[in-house]
Amino acid sequence: MAYQIKKAAVLGSGVMGSGIAAHLANIGIPVLLLDIVPNKLTDQEEANGLTLENQQVRNKFATTALEKLLKQKPAPLASKNNLSLIEVGNFEDDLDKLKDVDWIIEVIVENLDVKKGLYEKIDAVRKEGTIVTSNTSGISIEAMSEGRSEDFQKHFMGTHFFNPPRYLKLLEIIPTAKTDKDVLEFMMQFGEDRLGKGVVIAKDTPNFIANRIGTYGLLVTLREMEKRGYSIGEVDSVTGTLIGRPKSATFRTLDVVGLDTFMHVAKNAYDKTEGDEQQVFELPPFMKKMIDNGWLGAKSKQGFYLKQ
Ligand code: NAD
Repeated sequence: MAYQIKKAAVLGSGVMGSGIAAHLANIGIPVLLLDIVPNKLTDQEEANGLTLENQQVRNKFATTALEKLLKQKPAPLASKNNLSLIEVGNFEDDLDKLKDVDWIIEVIVENLDVKKGLYEKIDAVRKEGTIVTSNTSGISIEAMSEGRSEDFQKHFMGTHFFNPPRYLKLLEIIPTAKTDKDVLEFMMQFGEDRLGKGVVIAKDTPNFIANRIGTYGLLVTLREMEKRGYSIGEVDSVTGTLIGRPKSATFRTLDVVGLDTFMHVAKNAYDKTEGDEQQVFELPPFMKKMIDNGWLGAKSKQGFYLKQ
């Protein structure tokens, strides 16, 4: 069967989902960008007389994500006009629209049960042959597709983008034993030719390749910092520009990734490893405290650095 992607859907409009939607719009592919409906109003919305049924409120996450896309640096959109290719909506009202797309990419919170719940809903509405992929940082692709229809499993794999999606060239593709070979080949080609990425096929092992090494490296660095009393600035300098890497080498990377997301990714590796290796994947208590405080990095405007 010949595949083509004329329209895509990105599920989840957070740090990565909004960036992936922008990347697709940049290459001329119309995108449906969906997220959850908020379950309460802000004081401001209440003061403005809005209700939870108001469309503006129901599309809030996605709308906020679109506004952010216009402000972020480096710019996720190649041109402001590309925004018109992104249609926003929410899972409650717009899930049915998934039957009109050729590729669905799931980019929601890094949690197996939550993702599986969404896949069940997708399976019920997608048309046969629609490609479904996950942007998970390291959850088992096979575990996510458990219980789904045969057609879903044939068209399912991991497509792991890196942050920020417009600029970072690596795309890890993670098939399962049930992924159809033609679908895999199509996505590899699409990843290289249309998305402009360097595609690497990874095995379905915890955190795949780049995040298995990357999470390990970041956590070892954090431990060394604590043990030797280095400052955040010192570590970022000597792991960054001073040795020819981007300035975002360690703590800025964690801020960009999101501390909560990093916690989920580290835990995923922790749960699947043993002994000395497992110890490395344990999050240091100071990071847990930051997450409890809501200091999640750039997305909450406070992480290791303050974002203006
Ligand atoms: P994020 O926290 O910025 O966004 C997650 C989105 O999921 C939010 O918009 C939220 O509203 C939505 N969501 C939360 N709970 C939900 C639920 N119960 N049902 C449906 N949607 C829900 O996270 P992110 O950084 O964009 O990460 C999304 C995915 O991409 C994760 O699987 C993550 O591991 C992966 N990823 C993240 C990065 C990164 O650098 N942040 C890089 C590569 C891959």
